[in-house]
Amino acid sequence: MNEYKGIIVSPGISVGKVYLFREEKITIPKYAIAVHQISHEIERFVQAVESAITEISQLKEKYAHQMGEQEKKLLDSHVLMLSDPVFKEDIGKKVGEKQVNVEWSLLQVIDDFIEKMNESSDEYMMARSLDFHDVSKRVMRHLLLSERMSLADLQEEVIIVAHNLLPSDAISMNKAMVKGIALDLGSKTSHTAILARAFNIPAVLGLSDISQQVNQNDEIIVDGNKGVVIVSPDKETKAKYHSTQVKWHKHEKKLMDLKTVQAETKDGQVVQLEANIEVAEEVNSVLAYGASGIGLFRSEFLFMQPSTMPSEEEQFRTYRNVLEAMKGKSVTIRTLDLGGEKVFPGIDIQEEDNPILGWRAVRFCIAKPEIFKIQLRAILRASVYGNCKIMFPMISGIEELLQTLDILQQVKKDLKRENIQFDEKISVGAMIEVPSAALTSDILAKKVDFFSIGTNDLIQYTIAVDRSNEKIAYLYEPFHPGVLRLLKTIIDNAHQAGITVSMCGEMAGDPAATVVLLGLGLDHFSMSSFSIPEIKNIIRSVDSGEAKQLVEKILSMSFAAEITEYVENWMEAHLAKVFN
Ligand code: PEP
Ligand code: MG
Repeated sequence: MNEYKGIIVSPGISVGKVYLFREEKITIPKYAIAVHQISHEIERFVQAVESAITEISQLKEKYAHQMGEQEKKLLDSHVLMLSDPVFKEDIGKKVGEKQVNVEWSLLQVIDDFIEKMNESSDEYMMARSLDFHDVSKRVMRHLLLSERMSLADLQEEVIIVAHNLLPSDAISMNKAMVKGIALDLGSKTSHTAILARAFNIPAVLGLSDISQQVNQNDEIIVDGNKGVVIVSPDKETKAKYHSTQVKWHKHEKKLMDLKTVQAETKDGQVVQLEANIEVAEEVNSVLAYGASGIGLFRSEFLFMQPSTMPSEEEQFRTYRNVLEAMKGKSVTIRTLDLGGEKVFPGIDIQEEDNPILGWRAVRFCIAKPEIFKIQLRAILRASVYGNCKIMFPMISGIEELLQTLDILQQVKKDLKRENIQFDEKISVGAMIEVPSAALTSDILAKKVDFFSIGTNDLIQYTIAVDRSNEKIAYLYEPFHPGVLRLLKTIIDNAHQAGITVSMCGEMAGDPAATVVLLGLGLDHFSMSSFSIPEIKNIIRSVDSGEAKQLVEKILSMSFAAEITEYVENWMEAHLAKVFN
């Protein structure tokens, strides 16, 4: 039995047998060609590209009923890559310069491209290199006249183990048969991670060499809650996981019974539990888990697709679809939070020394009104199809907020002039995730309808601790007295101004923090859909008075560790009292 630790990407536990999805090994021939054969070789490439494009169209048609907008768009982007004249030019150059067959030339072009992309150490660029690899492989198969292997034909339940899963494989796989995914590669923002979450398949990625450690049909456990994979579990572990799985299902089922009840404390204080989404396809699970709305739609993921910048029309359709699917429940669309680690080739953000403190989010949008206005137009146009809210990320002070609101106002004016309908009373909020915004939240509160606290960034900036640097992870403390004081300041200032406060950072979905946030007076909690039932369960078990007392106590403490321990003990004692 062996245990491997990877990245938590999609929750749930699966026990099953390995389906080892190996990249097909194709032998690429290499032979010299004469000058007069160059045009013939290029023509062979053109034919293979055409066949690949036809194949993608057929794939789209065949699986149209299973595909969401995101997936269709991905395939469209592959067609765009294939049709790019630069691709053909590069191949032509290689064939001409080296006077070798087209298969070998294609291999060289792929290698050059992937090397360049991987050198960039940029997560987005690396993900794009996978797309390029994917389309090139398809062309290669047509050149070699080989058949494409497909996960669409899976006929029995399996756990897919692979070095990597290309987006087109993930899209076409028979999802009903895929019970889990474990990959060597991958990050939280890779396409496969996004799709696994959207399809509700437990997944652990970034496992280094799991594909080398398993054999076809091995027994395997994928624990998406802990980011752990166990190969060939012994009897004891299997029994343990079996009971964990049964408990998890029972627990989930029991929690799901709460789907239709409110998140209400024992003394009647009601809070809203909303969901965070990255792609429109997640709406189904948002509804399944009983979210009262979407508290954060990370719209930048729409822009991080491999194709070009989404048009106003494309954005409008996506926002409208989400709003309609939510049937009147509120949908808070966060405007572009690009920059930092989230960049893509079509956008001219140069490498910066400190990207996390750099040209990002509203700073970028204010400087690029031509991009920002298109998004605002799309959101406003969609706003008549449901209960839509807009919120701006990374606001650092009143000047930035006013500039942003001014651009929104201009877009509203334009739409009015064009006689295009939108919700004129649309709620507008500011994310509070920069300490300067938290400390001036009394000023900001007068200009917006709500706040949403982004604790992922707020904690990172308050304690000066990079949220993705493992070496200093011990410093990333949600219960640091500095963080707690800021949270109190934000919530109190918002309430004084008569506006509501939401939280959409990970802290909102952390069961250890629920009672503290309740005691601080948070109105809306927004989190991954699957966390909603558990948080609701906790909220329904407490009295708002005891939550306030807990907060009063911890605000008098000086040490983060002391507070964390106190809250953990309090929660343990509380849960034991209430649920046993
Ligand atoms: C946050 O910072 O808490 C947040 C919700 O935004 P993101 O994680 O997308 O930066
Ligand atoms: Mg943030």
